[in-house]
Amino acid sequence: MYLYNQLTHRIQKFRASKKEVKFYSCGPTVYDYVHIGNLRYFVFVDLLKRTLLYHGYKVYHVMNITDVGHLVSDADTGEDKIVVSARKKRKSAWEIARFYENEFKKDLKKLNCIFPQKFPRATEYIKDQIEFIKILEKKGFTYRLEDGIYFDTSKIKDYKRLWGKEIKILPGARVEMVPGKKNPTDFALWKFSPKDKKREMEWPSPWGKGFPGWHTECVVMSSKILGVPLDIHTGGEDHIWIHHPNERAQALACFSKELSRFWVHCAFLRQKKQKMAKSKGNILTLKDIEKKGYHPLALRYLFLNTHYQKPLDFSFTALSFSQKTLFSLKEKISHLKEKTKRKKISKKALMIKKEFKKIIGQNLNSPQALALLHKVLEANFLENYEKIFLISDFDKVFGLNLLEKKEEKIPKKVLELVKKREKYRQEKKFEEADKIREKIKKMGYEIQDTKEGPVVKKRIL
Ligand code: AMP
Ligand code: ZN
Repeated sequence: MYLYNQLTHRIQKFRASKKEVKFYSCGPTVYDYVHIGNLRYFVFVDLLKRTLLYHGYKVYHVMNITDVGHLVSDADTGEDKIVVSARKKRKSAWEIARFYENEFKKDLKKLNCIFPQKFPRATEYIKDQIEFIKILEKKGFTYRLEDGIYFDTSKIKDYKRLWGKEIKILPGARVEMVPGKKNPTDFALWKFSPKDKKREMEWPSPWGKGFPGWHTECVVMSSKILGVPLDIHTGGEDHIWIHHPNERAQALACFSKELSRFWVHCAFLRQKKQKMAKSKGNILTLKDIEKKGYHPLALRYLFLNTHYQKPLDFSFTALSFSQKTLFSLKEKISHLKEKTKRKKISKKALMIKKEFKKIIGQNLNSPQALALLHKVLEANFLENYEKIFLISDFDKVFGLNLLEKKEEKIPKKVLELVKKREKYRQEKKFEEADKIREKIKKMGYEIQDTKEGPVVKKRIL
């Protein structure tokens, strides 16, 4: 299996260091619903994990839940995102964090992502973070400012290693520096609570009451749970510039070791060429998409159809196309099933299985793998049972439930409207009947009038 490694800036052969792949993914900051940009990243994580499993690896997967310490600005200024959200929504910070963590997990389920074995929360590792910062302090990597304890990045020789040669313009946030920082790249390990106010989430420490910085939680939880070095560490492409160099720097300081052997990043989902981000006001959630009648797996299909390292411009036209393609795939596959009789799998089919393994193992080439799926379905040199064998095999990686035939549950409200419309039709009140048809359409369903009466189906947009 080959993967692009941000540490070496090239595609490299991947091998696990031990029997189980030690896989750590930066998780969500649970201050609001995740948006579909975040979800592109989480589907990529799932694709990577499924590919490892497909290639015969055992995987131990950890994804953190950031429930404290992620500040509004990456330059260690501004408030904690969860505290701001709690104030706006008049809830406690704890309520906010638990609520959105739960909502996040619901989205993962809908997108058919295999759950990590562990979802550690930052607030449950406070002691470990304090112990870790104490070591950094003892080794001389820290300094104190008025608002917190900081890490001196100039002490790490190759701090910028993940950046590579193609150094982009650094996030503007960095300009807005905390006064007293020795280097623009220095970051907070521990932030003090304000002197005049009590924070809802705060803990005592040798340096004063406060809370840990976001970059410290990930290095502490990943090293504590999985051990250093990890095999794979993932994040969205924004993490190449701040979060991941900071995690890596702390591991180098504390353990004199690389934190991870592979660093893999997913490119952004964009809207009109701009990163989809809450701060840009251009986000959509999974709920928004579902309300418009799209299936979450249509979104998954859309994501898989672009290589994870390429930016993906979101549009409803593209999502509609994905939904149509996915539904028509499933329709065709369901017909295959009816005629199935199991026999020996031919050499030709086994060759295709091998080809699939190779394609997906080439730095996760999911678009080409999907193209192969379509080819299999159309191939006239394969028997139906062989097609089913291959499709079910490929779907271990795609996670699109290609062979699942679930009867669409039509909501009661829609069924009642269908009845009402039928009554109007029988009374020849066609204008009223048409109005109801429109209403049903708006709810995402379509009526087809057949000889046997009206049939209602979910609308494909
Ligand atoms: P956050 O909750 O902000 O910590 O983000 C969770 C994950 O989503 C991080 O790994 C981000 O890099 C990633 N992410 C954020 N926005 C996008 C986007 N528009 N496209 C892809 N990934 C994103
Ligand atoms: Zn992280």
